[in-house]
Amino acid sequence: KQRVLTGITTSGTPHLGNYVGAIRPAIAASQEENNQSFYFLADYHALIKCQDPEQVHQSTLEIAATWLALGLNTDNVVFYRQSDIHEIPELTWLLTCQTAKGLMNRAHAYKAAVDANRADGEDSDFGINMGLYSYPILMAADMLMFNAQRVPVGRDQIQHIEMARDIAQRFNHHYGDHFALPEAVVEDHVAVLQGLDGRKMSKSYGNTIPLFLPEKKLKKHINKIKTNLLEPGEPKDPDTSTVFQIWKAFASEVQTAEMRKAFEQGIAWGEAKKQLFELVNGQIGEARERYNELLANPAEIEAELEKGADKARAYSAPFLEELRHAVGIRKIG
Ligand code: ATP
Repeated sequence: KQRVLTGITTSGTPHLGNYVGAIRPAIAASQEENNQSFYFLADYHALIKCQDPEQVHQSTLEIAATWLALGLNTDNVVFYRQSDIHEIPELTWLLTCQTAKGLMNRAHAYKAAVDANRADGEDSDFGINMGLYSYPILMAADMLMFNAQRVPVGRDQIQHIEMARDIAQRFNHHYGDHFALPEAVVEDHVAVLQGLDGRKMSKSYGNTIPLFLPEKKLKKHINKIKTNLLEPGEPKDPDTSTVFQIWKAFASEVQTAEMRKAFEQGIAWGEAKKQLFELVNGQIGEARERYNELLANPAEIEAELEKGADKARAYSAPFLEELRHAVGIRKIG
């Protein structure tokens, strides 16, 4: 069986982009016979950019409830909270000691933060913590801990998978073959949704449409999607429109073709947004009810996560023992 791994950072409320780009395809993949899926709540990763304890905690609940409400079958997958697996930070350290500093200097997320500082005339390392600097190593540990072979990612994450391969190879070379090399699976057919302001929808940008907003608020958010100033009757370009892009991610092919035509015939923005609301709301309505029930009963979520942690640790605990032994951290005599 192929091991597939996906994580979502617990730094905010899950949004339509997380759903379309990660959760929906992951739930579909978990139903395939030849996959063994590992899905996790990346709460150690959240601490890099979110230092509000309430937010990290609430986000963990919300993201867990989202996966469960959408029908993830936790008997068939390993669904866990990263921080329940104590072996992960320990493995991170073992890997850190095999990682060239120069490799981390080249990591996109760190470089982007440095560039932003320079553009603002700040000291280049202003506000950058070591978590951000070395998070590709934590990410490598996430994958290598479970010998994940397939890691579905967006294009921007390919570099991190390559770094994980690099780190794994060094470790294998030095201590013997312990790790399978993970492979990035770039799902080109999976859309990257734009947010309210037209940039990539992202928790960090505060431009999201949360997945399980109450109906009225969902409607309000959809109405806030930025559009150009074209009037009803004026033809609109579907391919540059966030409204159309989100429509396409939820609609059937026939519905997409119909909406494309409606754009070209000058559908009013208000009408297009109303239809988008109805489409999205229709698809998530039932799951939203389940989501609210789960949030009202956090003990049920916790029980699922504890079950997942037991399953994950059945892999990670003996494997870390093997690795400790390999590097020389063992009992004397
Ligand atoms: P953060 O700002 O904390 O990084 P995020 O909202 O950008 O959060 P992540 O938690 O980093 O999302 O990503 C979780 C998963 O959701 C990843 O697989 C990522 O590719 C996917 N994803 C995130 N944003 C989008 C989007 N706008 N469209 C499609 N997929 C997305």
